Amino acid sequence: MDNQYKEAVAVLERTAELVDLNQRIVDQLKKPQRIVEVHFPVSMDNGSTQIFTGYRVQHNNWRGPYKGGIRFHPKVSLDEVQSLAFWMTIKTAVINVPFGGGKGGVIVDPKLLSQKELERLSRSYIRAIAPAIGPQIDVPAPDVNTNSQIMDWMRDEYERIAGHPEPAVVTGKPVEGGGSQGREEATGLGGAIILREAVKHLKKSPTHMTVAIQGFGNVGSWFATHAAKYGFKIIAVSDSKGGVYDPKGLDVEAIVTGKKNGRNIPEVGSGKKVSNEELLTLPVDILAPAALEGALTKSNAPKVKAKLILELANGPATKEADELFRKKRLSVVPDILANSGGVAVSYFEWYQNIHNERWAVDRVRRELEKLMVKAWEEIRDTSRTMNSDWRENAYAVALERLAQSARK
Ligand code: NAD
Repeated sequence: MDNQYKEAVAVLERTAELVDLNQRIVDQLKKPQRIVEVHFPVSMDNGSTQIFTGYRVQHNNWRGPYKGGIRFHPKVSLDEVQSLAFWMTIKTAVINVPFGGGKGGVIVDPKLLSQKELERLSRSYIRAIAPAIGPQIDVPAPDVNTNSQIMDWMRDEYERIAGHPEPAVVTGKPVEGGGSQGREEATGLGGAIILREAVKHLKKSPTHMTVAIQGFGNVGSWFATHAAKYGFKIIAVSDSKGGVYDPKGLDVEAIVTGKKNGRNIPEVGSGKKVSNEELLTLPVDILAPAALEGALTKSNAPKVKAKLILELANGPATKEADELFRKKRLSVVPDILANSGGVAVSYFEWYQNIHNERWAVDRVRRELEKLMVKAWEEIRDTSRTMNSDWRENAYAVALERLAQSARK
């Protein structure tokens, strides 16, 4: 999607007016502070050397070190990475963790690489951006197509350059390599906590609500597991190969196990097969897009039947789709709140590394629950005073915090 950054910034401008934010601050937030573009070599298994392009965008650090994931995808673009970095600045302020916003990406289809090539690519990218990162400067994490193994390679490569241990340079590491318990499930669990609270606020009960989830990777699968535990009825799920739909409810555990064994949703899910497009417009109470940006567009948004949209992916609705949802007065739980559980536990991981602590999973879950519920309540209460939508309220909360720490 082109112009994604322009669309991201349009929301900032709209909300800045609502909260009467100083224009000097708006102007600074409209531009990333630093863009790092790197071209780096990777030795391929056939003996050749290929040059890859990657980015690290450091949007804003008024509230702390830049923080944000690294994405490996053939469609990575500077426009996309900038938008994701911008949303991280807002997200870390929404949940009030002491970080700013950053994001990285490499233009690559990792499915076409061997494991060894993937490792060499991860290490070479980190060597290229090493001068720009560090535990108090910029702290990367996993995103689409990157995982704890990749973070482990990146941390190791950074430590070779630094010449000393520096586990806090990335988060999302394996637990045995300094990662936090509970990081893997955090984004999905955080989304389920926020949904539970939003539904309570709307005076409804989870047991009477049906859910369709687009995307069944890290976020979608953990969200499905925890939402089902809270009593929500998951009736449709999809991955890039297609979806399944059963109005009586799906067996989430069986689907998670099937996916872990390398099978696709259409192979493992019971019920009727549906296309990715069909899943978005099924008759459900809640639609949870958990795949990539721009899934909900002006062409499919008018057909969406859900009354509540939980934005687990970053930027899943285009500007036109979002405007339509606002006009139709659908309840939209914005990405900057709904998917912030990951960065919350990333903060816990960074904190544990810096203080040489190791928290048990129960403590991580307790702290996550506290942090997410507090963030939700602040946004809900802003809603009471401003009488506007949850995205605007979340931006309002974030912008006020950013304004308080702005550099003069
Ligand atoms: P992932 O790579 O683990 O999973 C992505 C899933 O989407 C896969 O199941 C893939 O098959 C599916 N998919 C891709 N295209 C699809 C389509 N057209 N229809 C249906 N399914 C499709 O990625 P993830 O980590 O789960 O991230 C998903 C989204 O959540 C991204 O927008 C990411 O930026 C955002 N996010 C992730 C985290 C995190 O902690 N992982 C945190 C915050 C936000």
